[in-house]
Amino acid sequence: MKFFFETYGCQMNIAESAALKLAARGEGWEETETSGDADLILLNTCSVRITAEERVLGRLAHYSALKKKGKSFTLVLAGCMAERVKEKIKDEFPALDYIIGTSERSLFPSILLAAKEKNSAAGAAEIPGQTPAVKPSEKAAEISAEKPVFSFSSSHLEDGSFRTFVPIMHGCNNFCSYCIVPYTRGREISRDPKDIVNEIRGAGTKGVREVTLLGQNVNSYKWEGPVSSGPGSAAVEQSGAGLDFPGLLELIAGETQNTPVKWVRFLSSHPKDLSGQAIKVMSDNPVFCRHLHLCVQSGSNKILKAMNRRYTAEQYLDLTARLREAMPEITLSTDILVGFPGETEEDLDQTLDLMEKVKFLYSYMYHYNPREGTAAFDLPDRIPDQIKQERLGRVIRLQEQHTKNQLKSRLGAEVTVLIEGISKKNADELVARTERDEMAVVPGLGSWIGRFGRIKLESLAGNTFRASHAEILD
Ligand code: SF4
Repeated sequence: MKFFFETYGCQMNIAESAALKLAARGEGWEETETSGDADLILLNTCSVRITAEERVLGRLAHYSALKKKGKSFTLVLAGCMAERVKEKIKDEFPALDYIIGTSERSLFPSILLAAKEKNSAAGAAEIPGQTPAVKPSEKAAEISAEKPVFSFSSSHLEDGSFRTFVPIMHGCNNFCSYCIVPYTRGREISRDPKDIVNEIRGAGTKGVREVTLLGQNVNSYKWEGPVSSGPGSAAVEQSGAGLDFPGLLELIAGETQNTPVKWVRFLSSHPKDLSGQAIKVMSDNPVFCRHLHLCVQSGSNKILKAMNRRYTAEQYLDLTARLREAMPEITLSTDILVGFPGETEEDLDQTLDLMEKVKFLYSYMYHYNPREGTAAFDLPDRIPDQIKQERLGRVIRLQEQHTKNQLKSRLGAEVTVLIEGISKKNADELVARTERDEMAVVPGLGSWIGRFGRIKLESLAGNTFRASHAEILD
């Protein structure tokens, strides 16, 4: 039995797809590179932007057409879009066999089983006069009757990978007025620290070098439940109850000391929740990479308030100043949303002004698109598309300047990089990343992938550094 996944959206979806793939492999399934060979096709979806949903609708139409032509496979819709459109989409795409919302991934083993049975039943049905042993439709009804709650998978490690995502919390309580996530992922749930540590420890034994802690808002991690005894370390058992995000970071810093894991990143951070204590733990422990993605969205207090971000531009600037004071080498990146309803030229100028002050290494920049079901959907004063595009253009041009200037100032530096893979442009070159989230290419061998090296940032091609050679460290 073979499976094929299409994963859309954020790192959380990538991590959850990895966990589902592990579950499938555990049941004896194999991954296939092409959907044409697959007995089960799963679309793990995103709802953040309408365009992401439109792409998935196109893929569903494609797979439905294949089924109509007689191709037999189990089609599964998972993730945020599945959660959001659950009821409506059943009628639109009857070819969909299963729709699993964000809390229902624990149903996946039953779906695998049902898909196997469907396959053998289909085989049996080809014999004239025989009745399939199991009716897949009965199995489907049984699965959809269950009402699971969200649970974390025990591992999210892609086969053979040297880095992994480790979810530490799930959901969001913030209700930013433009965002669909609290409606699709639900309220915040923090993961047992013992399970987090066990996952990192397990990844370390498989040679993982870099871990990224994941959550919609990692800074509001709060473990209040009891810590069960078991194979966890003494440190976990002592500090488990009442653990907050800085406490968790401290625990992880200790845990990774004697493992191959040398770099730890975390995202997403909400500016209102990033505490002084978290900054201190980060700066005291070099295992935490000197890069932080800190979404600002706007530099206008009026717009930040309308977005329900619950910080001001001044508070954001103070936070970035404290981060740089604690870690002068840190780089910052961000998300910027322009064209929010009611945004004036003056509001945009304040965003540009904030960008000038912070000088982000890079930004994800986008213009506002209303999402049905969010608080901002009905706001008046929508900005015309042409103006949104023009404002976005100004933000992008400023960011390009800042990126270029910051990268140029690094030329000549000798840095440690993690070698990530073979360059798509030149098979003799390797792609590497610094802890500050800068990209470089360097000639080298495929066997260096997943190892740390020292390189000199000799020149720049676009936003990528070039180095003539690397000294491999470990
Ligand atoms: S913090 Fe705001 S933008 Fe981020 S997931 Fe939560 S509601 Fe959405």
